[in-house]
This record gives sequence, structure tokens and C-alpha cells, in this order.
Amino acid sequence: MKNRNALVTGSTSGIGLATARELANRGCHVMLNGFGDAAEIDRLCAEIAARSGTKVIHSGADLSRPEQIPAMLAQAVEAFGPLDIVVNNAGTQHVSPVQNFPDEKWDLLLAVNLSAAFHIIKAVVPGMMERGWGRIVNTSSVLGMVGAPHKPAYVASKHGLIGLTKSIAIEVAEHGVTCNAVCPGTVLTAIIEKQIAQQAVATGLREDQVMKEVFLREIPTKKMIPPEHLAATIAFLCSEEAGSITGAAIAVDGGYTAH
Ligand code: NAD
Repeated sequence: MKNRNALVTGSTSGIGLATARELANRGCHVMLNGFGDAAEIDRLCAEIAARSGTKVIHSGADLSRPEQIPAMLAQAVEAFGPLDIVVNNAGTQHVSPVQNFPDEKWDLLLAVNLSAAFHIIKAVVPGMMERGWGRIVNTSSVLGMVGAPHKPAYVASKHGLIGLTKSIAIEVAEHGVTCNAVCPGTVLTAIIEKQIAQQAVATGLREDQVMKEVFLREIPTKKMIPPEHLAATIAFLCSEEAGSITGAAIAVDGGYTAH
């Protein structure tokens, strides 16, 4: 994977950041994307670049706004050249019973979790096919495979992402380009920490009780998944050796979807 050019969306924290680190460690030049404190993001880029010896840059494009995507992609091409690897990982969540679910949250979640991946794939696929090599990985969720209450937009967007993955995979298969989804279970990142706090307020339980009784109850391993396990799976899917895996939705979920 030396000198491959990669974009990882939603990579200023959590799974995306672990993935950006892993791809850089394997020799890729990496564009990070996502929100956060500018000085902290600069520090992260410098730290990853120093460790990997590759180029590491950041785009603050807001993926809920499709008009910001072309400039992000152009910035990557200008910095390293055409993109070989795209990890559509940015995601956001909103939890509410459907009757109270705000319309604007539905639109936001569909835009960030699903439509941004479509716009990015549409833009990068022609070049990947022309060059005869490309790797696209979409971060779906176990909630792209099964349902859950109070998360209509999240579940719909993550199921949609698996459908998008299969459609693209078949379309580009003969051109050396693969497209896969990873489906994390419960990974301890900011998005989950926020939900634990929200559920503690909603249920009156302590946060450690919410973690044990709500988040880990249905997980056979009874363990939160480290972001690095997702990063390693995604990096493998981006490798040469994963060239025959395409259109797959790979659960990294401690056995959750095995019941
Ligand atoms: P996180 O909150 O740590 O990271 C989310 C990233 O997305 C951040 O970098 C954030 O800045 C970025 N982001 C959010 N909105 C954005 C926007 N409009 N434009 C650009 N960037 C934006 O969360 P995470 O857990 O690392 O989540 C990464 C992905 O994994 C998400 O797609 C999430 O749905 C998925 N996922 C996470 C879990 C889990 O348990 N943590 C489980 C299943 C799926």
C-alpha cells in the first residue's frame, strides 16, 4: 500500500482517526476530514505524518453540504495526486421516537451517512476505473443489518449504505475496483459516549449500568470493540490481497449479528 493516496472521511476522531493512522502506517498519503479544534487537528496531522513518513492533510468539508465535496477532492488531488482509496466513514446519530423525530435531523443523517458517500464515489470512480485500481470502504453499522427503535434515520441510512456498496461493487468489479462495507458493533468512541450519557438521563441508570445493561447486553463477547479492530479490517479491505472481496458487508461486532 506504499504511496497509495487515501481519503478517510470523518477521521478527526474514533474509527476514522484509527483508520487514517493505520493507512498512514502502511505507507499511504492520507487526507483526514471532519470537525474539531484546528490546532488539535494540525497537531494530529503532524504527528501521524512524522510517524509514517507520508503526507497527511486535512479538509474541514461539511459532508452534509454536497457543494463542499468537489473542493475537498480537488485539495486531495492537488496535495498527492488521484485518490486510490476512499473510506466513507463520517457519520452522525440522532435518537428519538419516530413521532418526535425532527425532519431536519432525518435530512442531516441521510445527507452525512449516505448521500455524501454517493457523491464521493460518483466523483472518484471514473479515475479509479481508468487506472484499473481502487478501494472503497463504507462504514455502515450492525444497524445496517438489523433494526433498532428510536433510530429511524440512522438505521435507514446504514441499510442504504450497504445497498449502495453492493450496487457500486457490481458496477466497477471488472476494473480492479472493490467496494465493501464494514459493520461495526459497539465501538467506544465519542458517538457512543454521547449515547451512553443520553440513555443514562433517559433511563435514570448510572452510565456504567447503561454500558453493561444496554450496550453490552446483546454482545456475545461482552466487550466494547476497540477502534483499532475496525481500522485493521478496513486497511485489509484496502490491500492488494483483498482484491477478491467486493460487495461484502463485514460485521466487526463481537458476535452481535450471529444471534
Ligand atoms: P466519532 O463521533 O468519533 O466520529 C465521527 C466523525 O465524523 C468525526 O470525525 C466527525 O467530525 C465527523 N463528522 C460528523 N459529521 C460530519 C459532517 N457533517 N461532515 C464531515 N465530517 C463529519 O464516531 P465513530 O464512532 O468513530 O463513527 C465513525 C463511523 O462509524 C460513523 O459512520 C458511525 O455511524 C459508524 N459506527 C460507529 C459505531 C460505534 O459504536 N462507535 C457503531 C457502528 C457504526
